[in-house]
Amino acid sequence: MSWSPPPRKVSDTQVIVVGGGPAGAVTGLLLAQRGWQVELVDRARFPRNKACGECLNPGGVALLAELGLVESVLATSPAVLEGWDLALPGDGGWQPPARGRFRGGDRALGICRATFDAALLGEARAAGVRVREGVRVVKAHPGGPDKPAAVELVLPGGGRQRRTARVLVGADGLNSRIRSEVGLAGPVADPPKASLTWRIRGTGPSRHQGRLLLGRRSTVGLAPVAGPDATHWNATLVVVEEADRANLLRRGWSIMSAALQGIPGGWRREPRVVAGPWGSGHFDRPVQAARTGRTLLVGDAAGYFDPLTGQGIYRALLSARLAADTIDQGLTGDARMGSDVEGLAPYGPLIFSSLRAGRLLQRAVEGVVSRSPLRQLCLGGLRYLPRATSWLIHLTGDRAGSLLRVPEPVWPLHPPRTIHEDHR
Ligand SMILES: Cc1cc2nc3c(=O)[nH]c(=O)nc-3n(C[C@H](O)[C@H](O)[C@H](O)COP(=O)(O)OP(=O)(O)OC[C@H]3O[C@@H](n4cnc5c(N)ncnc54)[C@H](O)[C@@H]3O)c2cc1C
Repeated sequence: MSWSPPPRKVSDTQVIVVGGGPAGAVTGLLLAQRGWQVELVDRARFPRNKACGECLNPGGVALLAELGLVESVLATSPAVLEGWDLALPGDGGWQPPARGRFRGGDRALGICRATFDAALLGEARAAGVRVREGVRVVKAHPGGPDKPAAVELVLPGGGRQRRTARVLVGADGLNSRIRSEVGLAGPVADPPKASLTWRIRGTGPSRHQGRLLLGRRSTVGLAPVAGPDATHWNATLVVVEEADRANLLRRGWSIMSAALQGIPGGWRREPRVVAGPWGSGHFDRPVQAARTGRTLLVGDAAGYFDPLTGQGIYRALLSARLAADTIDQGLTGDARMGSDVEGLAPYGPLIFSSLRAGRLLQRAVEGVVSRSPLRQLCLGGLRYLPRATSWLIHLTGDRAGSLLRVPEPVWPLHPPRTIHEDHR
């Protein structure tokens, strides 16, 4: 077989990452650390807000520790959570909650997405990633065995630019443009859900537990987050009914404030809104596959189901690591691209099998919560079964792996604080 010399320039850059959230920042960072030339574009300018419950679960904390990134996140002064309380509606308020505690000394972090995402992107930049903010992708081509991947960018001034890359990483979130451009979007399921997130300020409830208030028509998540004086909370409302979705902006805060009034423990002073709301939905975004040609999808772009169990950032970080490993190990040689597509092929099955258990658990929990009699039966019973509640919290915290081995000491940096019970 005759060998022809590789073309001198096969693409503008080795890897283009679209999206600078946790999935994109960490993919870029890991590749740059291994010597890859990475360009990352994001249509936003950082720090930017993101609709999110802002709770990094223990699996996410453990992954950050493994990747050497936990210190820079702790530098943003996150709140430290020891578990979640799950409450069902009762007469004129909420029933006493089922209390779940993370097992084995695990902790979750109440983060502020604006500072958390900016911190990770800062790490990526420091590792050598070329970060271009205010740059939007409007078209993409997945590339093939003999053809680089390509994107068309709209630059801050309005001009357009075409860039080619040996590998394209779509990390552009829930409504991923890359996913639809390269033909990987799956059929969207019903019923759609919608959410609003506020940053509120108030004192009263214990700041060591998150709360999930599982109402008949809506779910409210309340989690302490980093703030200037430890009084800031993330308050997220998710609704499913058509009537609530249609009037969400107008009626959202009254639904939220009614839910907050009745929370066990109560507030010393009525909480007030300091930022938001930020909206999001529809959540269920299946994908046909997570790779095609030279394009890999990571994070929400690679498929999303529901925010209820708060596993999205963990999945973003895990898929980033899998994508970076696949690119680094699967692609050989500098410029000859012939075997690249084969080298990237393992990514699809790998991400599918790595996220399968978490996805099944998510669907099971959502299936119970969305059916009123089942919700009452299963979650009502948890109130009397604190160990079972803690196992559930532990599993949705993406620490199932720690059942099989002695838990890693992921929390050497901040010893657990004493809990002051200020509500029962
Ligand atoms: C209501 C709600 C509550 C949630 N609560 C939690 C929780 O408590 N814990 C948890 O772990 N997860 C939670 N999640 C999920 C979590 O927010 C996501 O899973 C996570 O942000 C995914 O990260 P990502 O990097 O994939 O995407 P994102 O963080 O969404 O980043 C995508 C980036 O791509 C950029 N982008 C988009 N389109 C383009 C384009 N065309 N060109 C250039 N750039 C583009 C965006 O500007 C953005 O910066 C929640 C989600 C919602 C909606």
